[in-house]
Amino acid sequence: MTTISTDVRTVLDALGVTPAQTQGGTLKVVSPVDGAVVAAVPETTPAEAATLIGQAHQAYLEWRAVPAPRRGEFVRLLGEELRAAKPALGRLVSLEVGKSPSEGLGEVQEMIDICDFAVGLSRQLYGLVIQSEREDHRLTEQWHPAGVVGVISAFNFPVAVWSWNAALAFVCGDSVVWKPSEKAPLTALAVAAIMARAAQKFGGVPKGLLTMLIGGREVGEALVDDVRVPVVSATGSTRMGRVVGERVARRFGRAILELGGNNASIVTPSADLDLTLRAVAFGAMGTAGQRCTTMRRLIVHESVYDKLVPKLASVYKSISIGNPITSDALVGPLIDGRAYESMQGALAEAKKAGGIVHGGERVDINGPNSFYVRPALVEMPGQVGPVCDETFAPILYVLKYKDLDEAIALHNGVPQGLSSSIFGTDIREIETFLSARGSDCGIANVNMGTSGAEIGGAFGGEKETGGGRESGTDAWKAYMRRQTSAVNYGRKLPLAQGVKFDI
Ligand code: NAD
Repeated sequence: MTTISTDVRTVLDALGVTPAQTQGGTLKVVSPVDGAVVAAVPETTPAEAATLIGQAHQAYLEWRAVPAPRRGEFVRLLGEELRAAKPALGRLVSLEVGKSPSEGLGEVQEMIDICDFAVGLSRQLYGLVIQSEREDHRLTEQWHPAGVVGVISAFNFPVAVWSWNAALAFVCGDSVVWKPSEKAPLTALAVAAIMARAAQKFGGVPKGLLTMLIGGREVGEALVDDVRVPVVSATGSTRMGRVVGERVARRFGRAILELGGNNASIVTPSADLDLTLRAVAFGAMGTAGQRCTTMRRLIVHESVYDKLVPKLASVYKSISIGNPITSDALVGPLIDGRAYESMQGALAEAKKAGGIVHGGERVDINGPNSFYVRPALVEMPGQVGPVCDETFAPILYVLKYKDLDEAIALHNGVPQGLSSSIFGTDIREIETFLSARGSDCGIANVNMGTSGAEIGGAFGGEKETGGGRESGTDAWKAYMRRQTSAVNYGRKLPLAQGVKFDI
């Protein structure tokens, strides 16, 4: 019988990560599948980090001179390598963070999709020509590479988040220093190996175009505080973002913050309840509730509450929970014991606040060192206690409402603002939700859940979610610096605003 450790080694071999990279180090990697320690990865010291950031800066100085469409060709090759590696990398995602096989593969597909997007973008980093108020003047706006982009990522999308940032940064002419989650360094090492293969096919890229800092908070802080890193894109908890945002601002760097969500869906009287049921099940229980966009609150109209909520409770009772490697269960493990404890803490608080809890208990799938739970559905008397917080576990709080204004007020009445949705067929209600007085989130969906965004749209959220945008539309602008340029091709020197200064 193979163990998770041997499985991990087999996949790492297939991906080109050597034993020396994953053994004998101080960072223990625990697979949530069974709680086994599967690797001990050497960590980067802050002193080493400083040297590596220096290398990344040098790489940027060279890379910025490569024409953008040529940089796009490198990202195209990266996408090709990711296609070839998809089965193995998807499996490694499942082994390292416990995602179901389909979600592990889906994460790699997202990386491929953003590479495709970035390749097209490499010929479309458009500037502007602006009408000048001065005679014989041309006024333009152009975009230049920003420099070294720091990427700090969370455990739950251990590789996709890197690619949303890196694929854009590379075509924009930047180098990237990546501080992956300390809970998921193996997938990061695999991505570095994949990128090295793409670089070789490209005919070589500057050393340091992708640099990795392995470790926890301390080495992340070295990146955050380094003035040679003009852009820091940080994905993780609001607690982390508050610290990182302040520190980057203190040195006048630019932070792209992608932080916690407390996403809600409103179920209106006109909703298709069968579709709603399926969408809520995936949105709230998929990835064991460990997506930033996981549905955490369901705001249900009183006229459909008794039709929907008992059915939902029975889906919660019967949903398959199991080993993501050996079964096709829809719900896999929590990342670790701390996640389990915070889930239990939130459920206890919810009960104290008058909540009726369905599910939420631990399920023994793979022994005492792994943490599998039945997702919890909690009927709440109001938006109180833990309902206002993000607990990174599968808890869905259900609230009842009477009219849409009340539903929207409840919806917007939390500190986070990432993703949202509404179920219904009444165009007045739907459009109100999408209007300026509707959802206050960065993402607002109709007749679907809150999770599962496509890369073509800009991704991110408001309020304590941090305000950053990544991935599609014009998110690329955050990875470049803007330059306004006025050219006088006449013989006079007219001054703007009609100012006279004759000497
Ligand atoms: P976390 O905040 O514990 O860690 C995230 C990353 O930040 C890790 O790499 C960690 O080492 C690093 N870090 C922590 N403190 C730091 C500091 N002071 N300086 C520099 N780096 C520091 O988050 P997690 O538990 O890995 O992930 C779950 C959280 O991430 C949830 O809150 C989830 O909503 C959020 N998330 C948000 C998005 C988004 O796009 N909005 C996407 C995925 C996850």
